[in-house]
Amino acid sequence: MTNVSAPAGANKCMLITGGSRGIGAATARMAARAGYRVAINYMNSVGAALGLAEEIVAAGGEAQAFQADVGRQDQVGRLFEQVDSAFGAVDVLVNNAGVLTSCRVDRTEEPQLLDVFRTNVFSAFFCSHEAIRRMSTMHGGRGGAIINVSSVAARLGGQSGGAQYAASKGAIDSFTNALSKEVGAEGIRVNGVRPGLIVTDIHNFHQDAGPDGIARRASTVPLRRAGQPDEVAEVILWLASDAASYVHGAIVDVSGGR
Ligand code: NAD
Repeated sequence: MTNVSAPAGANKCMLITGGSRGIGAATARMAARAGYRVAINYMNSVGAALGLAEEIVAAGGEAQAFQADVGRQDQVGRLFEQVDSAFGAVDVLVNNAGVLTSCRVDRTEEPQLLDVFRTNVFSAFFCSHEAIRRMSTMHGGRGGAIINVSSVAARLGGQSGGAQYAASKGAIDSFTNALSKEVGAEGIRVNGVRPGLIVTDIHNFHQDAGPDGIARRASTVPLRRAGQPDEVAEVILWLASDAASYVHGAIVDVSGGR
């Protein structure tokens, strides 16, 4: 008799912030194929988020789109309540929402800095705050996994004008490390991924964002190419799964060797 094991995401809910496109959308598609009920958070892109959820459902998966600016704590509280009602408590949180900025420090003003840190850092705090209250065995939960999407910019300093972004991702690496120590004994594994140059719309504000610009920058990558969102999603799904049951407080570079 063949031993058929349950899919990784069976009876589990995964919430992906900023999940309507790019790395988040690739993660949502892959998670649905792995059997997760997928909560796709979006801020403005209602069409893309609903379209992705419909696509997943048409392929036989479970997904719903949920609007919230995850940089605002009140909206994050509402988001988790809506996910509770639709899918039950979150088992896996992917803190993926992020913005890429370019601005020299001598031109950086407080409002812009606050915006970047709200989206890239505060969001991870706010979402983890809600997730821990549901996952932690201390709060009666059944454990879970949190995966934070950082960037190699945390190590490399990013591109010219990248101090805001690099510092925000450095904060995410420190957050991952500290949070893993805080909740590891409560059944929650906390890990991160550090993508390198990945082909998504996040680069669109650059003048050299098109295929030529990406190719130029890819020439500095040891693997001599940019990565695809699926190549990051694979690692996120692995970190979320029981296959990574002893991986905790780790930050995995997905950067082609940069
Ligand atoms: P993307 O721009 O396609 O996706 C980011 C998503 O986050 C977008 O859908 C955006 O609308 C959403 N978002 C932004 N602010 C939000 C908010 N306040 N609330 C909810 N959603 C919000 O880019 P991506 O490349 O898929 O980025 C995903 C993550 O990967 C980001 O954290 C990014 O910093 C990180 N990353 C990307 C690269 C790369 O080269 N693409 C490299 C390193 C790290």
